[in-house]
Amino acid sequence: MNSQGITVLGATGSIGVNTLDVVAAHADRYHVVALTAHRQVDKLFAQCLQFRPLLAVVADAASAVQLQQRLREAGCSTEVAYGEAALETAATLPEAQMVMAAIVGAAGLRPTLAAARLGKRILLANKESLVVAGELFMHTVRQSGAELLPVDSEHNAIFQSLPRGYDGSLDGNGIEQLILTASGGPFRQREAATLLHVTPDDACNHPNWVMGRKISVDSASLMNKGLEVIEAHWLFNAPAERIEVVVHPQSVIHSMVRYKDGSVIAQLGSPDMRTPIAYAMAWPERIVAPVKSLDFLTLSALTFEAPDLLRFPCLRLAFDALRAGGAASAVLNAANEVAVEAFLQRRIGFVDIPRLVERALQSLNLAACTDLESLLQRDAETRARVESWVAA
Ligand code: NAD
Ligand code: MG
Repeated sequence: MNSQGITVLGATGSIGVNTLDVVAAHADRYHVVALTAHRQVDKLFAQCLQFRPLLAVVADAASAVQLQQRLREAGCSTEVAYGEAALETAATLPEAQMVMAAIVGAAGLRPTLAAARLGKRILLANKESLVVAGELFMHTVRQSGAELLPVDSEHNAIFQSLPRGYDGSLDGNGIEQLILTASGGPFRQREAATLLHVTPDDACNHPNWVMGRKISVDSASLMNKGLEVIEAHWLFNAPAERIEVVVHPQSVIHSMVRYKDGSVIAQLGSPDMRTPIAYAMAWPERIVAPVKSLDFLTLSALTFEAPDLLRFPCLRLAFDALRAGGAASAVLNAANEVAVEAFLQRRIGFVDIPRLVERALQSLNLAACTDLESLLQRDAETRARVESWVAA
């Protein structure tokens, strides 16, 4: 078969690196067209030497000059560009049939949408794109005929557990519920009072997954599961009341679909993102992924419990935002991004994250936005307000 071109947005992050690992394991099937990073120039430089993309994108001019010079000296002809418009260029190069969307946060929205407009295969890790602009995003995908393959392990598991060619009708396919599993994060067994004093390093010390710091904090607060509920709503056309969250600390069952006849279909595997990444890249084929296979004989018990919405209010807030509709999910996301960043900088405590998000949902404008520019405007306004509360 012909080699397929892939662009990796957010190449230096946890998902980006895992994606390049799968690409390297299948050099006959895939080649890299463009790589982007924010400011990790050293890592991007090494990736460029290994994968020889046409284009590399960084955040600012100084990083771009430095990277371009080092690549020239190393005899690598990769072009270097910088800034937001260059991210869109990377996402839309005709040489790439697929785009891994692995930038963290709403910053990933514009380039991911640009790739969707061109009808590419989108490997979607950047769940914030759907949380901020789900309706617009899904509309764009339908209009352009883009292929949207979920990389988030839960949504990838649900995708694998749905009937092939699922058309967005739960009832039409005999489906009762989508069941998202959650590890419960590093604070699952903590007393509520002790959450007042947890540090960013405590929050990023996830029991089962090694991830970027933002999603690690989201996993600790259960906001990650809340964002995933909203993501599942858009991907699978499921209303809030048909999405259930179950805490499953071992992260072996990645999510499930409950059918009306009593069957539950689940996807299991070692907690390794290279499985859903390889699945999304090769779909509908299956290819080898460099992961440890699941050994049932050494597996400990699989256990399940209900999420505690009192200790982890972020999950409740995300359900509230989904039910409220309009721009509530975009406001929730923007408030959360600012709060998480402030927590990582030790400017606020862990329990202030849900407080700030709740205050945003209660006091800011949640009315629907009809286009991308007004959504991004709302995102910016929300960030400014929440930032002012942090600074107060
Ligand atoms: P990360 O922090 O490890 O990497 C983020 C990447 O985005 C880096 O390459 C960084 O340079 C780039 N980036 C950051 N800010 C940017 C900006 N403003 N503009 C352009 N580029 C920017 O994050 P990650 O853990 O790889 O997560 C990436 C996305 O995938 C997130 O949306 C996350 O929710 C989702 N996701 C991650 C995992 C996981 O296991 N890590 C699992 C499921 C979903
Ligand atoms: Mg997930």
